[in-house]
Amino acid sequence: MPFVVVITGIPGVGKSTITRIALKRTRARFRLINFGDLMFQEAVKSGLVTHRDEMRKLSLKVQRELQLKTAQKIAEMAKVQPILLDTHCTIKTPLGYLLGLPREVIETINPNFIVIIEAYPSEILGRRLRDLKRDRDVETEEQIKRHQDLNRAAAITYAMYSNALIKIIENHEDKGLEEAVNELVKILDLAVREYA
Ligand code: AMP
Ligand code: MG
Repeated sequence: MPFVVVITGIPGVGKSTITRIALKRTRARFRLINFGDLMFQEAVKSGLVTHRDEMRKLSLKVQRELQLKTAQKIAEMAKVQPILLDTHCTIKTPLGYLLGLPREVIETINPNFIVIIEAYPSEILGRRLRDLKRDRDVETEEQIKRHQDLNRAAAITYAMYSNALIKIIENHEDKGLEEAVNELVKILDLAVREYA
């Protein structure tokens, strides 16, 4: 049986850091997939964008098509190896929030877990200001809070269209990282049984 863990969290929450450390510690041999990377490869192939931060500004129809193609690729990969899928519950586009895993996409991927990494808006704001590599949208703490609230709501709908359990992991400045990693490792270790 495929074993897929979807890991989400708004930009700046510390998702990549937690993921990187947890993958080193788990006994299971996960393949780490970044949904945005795969989707970006598709978008470049079709001549639609030259930078990944342009994707959320494409037409809704095009983003939907790219999403589904990407999901189908991921479902194929999950047949041979447990997958840790780094993505987003919702993506903030210029017109409104886009579901990261709309119905056909979540049904295609059918994850076992949806992990949401969260932090306080003030912590997220600070981390974003320190990350100059990305073209991040500038948001207030209030907007960050709303985005995190919306992501929880989206996760509930994803659980309805899959067998996923929802796990919320907090990542706070003072000793939060270690605990957050441990919680993720506990979930990843479950894959050992599935592919034995
Ligand atoms: P990231 O590097 O995780 O911030 O993702 C980069 C970009 O990939 C996002 O800004 C979105 O445009 C796109 N992306 C990632 N995951 C999804 C998804 N599930 N559905 C649609 N677009 C996505
Ligand atoms: Mg990231």
